[in-house]
Amino acid sequence: MILALDIGGTKTSAALIGPNLKIVEKRSISTQSPNWAMFARALRELIGTWQFDRVAVATTGRIVEGVLQPLNTEMISFWNALPITDELTKLFSQPVFVVNDAAAAAWGEFQCMQTSDGPLVHSILYLTISTGVGSGLIVNDRLVSSANGLASHAGHCQHSLPGLGVYHCSCGRTNCIETIASGTAIAHRATVACGETLSTIEVFARYYTHSECARVIDQAAHAISDLIVNMNATMGIDRAVLGGGVGLLDLFRERVRFYMLKNPTVFRAEITTAALGSDSGLVGVAQLSNKDEAG
Ligand SMILES: [Zn+2]
Repeated sequence: MILALDIGGTKTSAALIGPNLKIVEKRSISTQSPNWAMFARALRELIGTWQFDRVAVATTGRIVEGVLQPLNTEMISFWNALPITDELTKLFSQPVFVVNDAAAAAWGEFQCMQTSDGPLVHSILYLTISTGVGSGLIVNDRLVSSANGLASHAGHCQHSLPGLGVYHCSCGRTNCIETIASGTAIAHRATVACGETLSTIEVFARYYTHSECARVIDQAAHAISDLIVNMNATMGIDRAVLGGGVGLLDLFRERVRFYMLKNPTVFRAEITTAALGSDSGLVGVAQLSNKDEAG
């Protein structure tokens, strides 16, 4: 059995994964905690009496030789420079495999596209649009990774639209796509535009009745569409898969498609939502750890 963890900026999901790589049981807790020790204790309590012989972890952030080096240092306060592989090995006394959450989800979604005749597509971009904007890239049936852990942090590509303003990203750049299109950014920008505190869900609920909310969502969808087109121009992707709380919304996907259609046909990519829903990261990291184990 595999213990799979998907550690996001807001929520952490844990799943017990059976030998057929299917989820047997799933639980979740908030990721927000004052420090690592308290989060680790909450994680241990969440797992309870589950029995497993290895741990597969999909986490937000850049991982370099088992150490977290997040670009967004504000998302999880205790994440910066945390030796996550060693800490989780100590916590669970089992071998630990760690990979970026969007990369894991990309792999999980890519596996869903396999048929008995081989893959339906060979190159995909997975985008998780939730607390931040994460991305995972499969090119020619292989997960793209790099020694510096930066591949593929496409949410930190810059974006500009007329009248957009300047948004500072915690990575040190301005107008990263994450500052325009993440759920956090959508809620923040609509709150400023409307003069009242709004959650991401409330902003989407006002799409057809409040022009300011519609403008914020359309700018986010436009930014995501341009990102997909740019990635298609550089990597030749067949399909873009949207996941995360915002990415899974039908309205958001349709607005991304709307902006995609403004591009010449050759640059367009098929846009779908994650077939595994919010489980892409859990299933994907279990599959990747299996692959790693098999060498
Ligand atoms: Zn950034």
